Amino acid sequence: MIEEKRDFYIDGQWVKPSQINDLEVIDPSTEEVCAIISLGSKKDTDDAVKAAKNSFESWWGTSKEKKIELLNNLLEIYMRRSSEMAEAISKEMGAPKDWSINQQSQSGEDHIKTFINNYKKFKFENYLNEDEGNYIAYEPIGVCALITPWNWPINQIALKVLPALAAGCTMILKPSEIAPLSGMLFTEMIHEAGFPKGVFNLVNGDGPGVGTSLSSHPDIDMVSFTGSTRAGKLITKNAADTIKRVSLELGGKGANIVFADADEKAVKRGVRRVFNNSGQSCNAPTRLLVEKSIYERAVKEAIEVAEKTEVDVANKEGKHIGPVVSKMQYNKIQNLINKGIEEGAKLVAGGPDRPSHLNKGYFVRPTVFAGVNNEMTIAKEEIFGPVVSIIPFSNEEEAIKISNDTAYGLTNYIQTTDTKKAQRIARQLRSGMVEINGVSFADGSPFGGYKQSGNGREGGKWGIEEFLEVKSISGWK
Ligand code: NAD
Repeated sequence: MIEEKRDFYIDGQWVKPSQINDLEVIDPSTEEVCAIISLGSKKDTDDAVKAAKNSFESWWGTSKEKKIELLNNLLEIYMRRSSEMAEAISKEMGAPKDWSINQQSQSGEDHIKTFINNYKKFKFENYLNEDEGNYIAYEPIGVCALITPWNWPINQIALKVLPALAAGCTMILKPSEIAPLSGMLFTEMIHEAGFPKGVFNLVNGDGPGVGTSLSSHPDIDMVSFTGSTRAGKLITKNAADTIKRVSLELGGKGANIVFADADEKAVKRGVRRVFNNSGQSCNAPTRLLVEKSIYERAVKEAIEVAEKTEVDVANKEGKHIGPVVSKMQYNKIQNLINKGIEEGAKLVAGGPDRPSHLNKGYFVRPTVFAGVNNEMTIAKEEIFGPVVSIIPFSNEEEAIKISNDTAYGLTNYIQTTDTKKAQRIARQLRSGMVEINGVSFADGSPFGGYKQSGNGREGGKWGIEEFLEVKSISGWK
């Protein structure tokens, strides 16, 4: 069944687009059309910005208690409709059923809960120095454009919408046009929760259209963007004339440094981490740096994981991985795999083309390259598919040098049982996040990158601060 999803959500209601401009949403497991949306025009964008602007003063003035009540409504609705969310994500970007329920959809619920807690604790006013009466007030930045990608669609939406609401901002969400269904379902939930009209608006569209109109719009105060470094640069340029705040969460090329004294599961854990979500995570540890003395064993273990990783359609239970999101991504990944072979990396598992048991869908074989050096294209570019590159190293100093020798700086990983060594290295890695020995980050930790991985921090209190201005008032008392 093809879902008809042509309308936008502006000023508290679903409205028809001002011009017909249909876009087919493709289910990557079947290559068939699963929905039709509209790409918005300048008029649709302007209408949404106007609604957000008109509602700003009253939303900012709405009490914390009322905002918490509305956020709790949203949480209750989200939990009730979480299976619909998982289905939408499976359809639009190919996440397998179990993964979609337990990881993709679950991330939305987790973020709503964490932001409610952080919002309750957040102090919007404070003395800098009580004796001198210097007062600091945190105030919402204003009307925000939220532009999100397709790979963790509801995770990214929740990481922006929730803190923006809590900060007192009003907003226009433009989800990825490739995976817009989860964002539209989330919009239904916002409506049902009873948020005042104009506070939250949704306009679908692509980068050159709605994305560019939002980035350059004179009545928008901030763009919060998650996506490719390529689009991040364009948005920054388009926003420059109106001096907007631009918060960027971009790509990554994480190193996973495995020392000879690492725990015995370290290599396999790292390789699985790359294959999860079919390799489409910005924080995937795609460069597997292995100490030379355990190199042969590590290659064998990586091959074993690749061979055991099943690939299949989203609409099937189990622990397999699904397709990649689109034909464009499939072709890009195939080109990079071929490039790896051409440049002399040793293909030890997977490789070009679809797995032989699947004759349609954008499925990629879990692939491992050994003998990679950091100059090769596959070690430099974000592949965004289930592809691991194994790079040998001789000592700690060389491992740090290779890890930092990249344009990106999102997440790096360290595997060693020597705590002092891990701590020493963690401080030298130029990335916004460092994970040691597979220990997950606590809820509410800041998420974001150094260098060309971006300049923002999402999650927890940092996520709320991103949407605030800081006002310094002297003579307060
Ligand atoms: P993309 O940059 O192609 O698209 C992301 C969003 O930006 C979409 O909504 C798209 O329509 C819009 N867009 C594209 N060009 C634009 C322009 N010129 N102006 C305004 N908007 C524009 O990225 P994608 O392919 O959807 O997502 C994958 C990328 O996202 C990867 O690089 C991944 O690493 C990155 N990502 C980063 C994080 C993070 O937090 N650092 C998280 C998830 C994904």
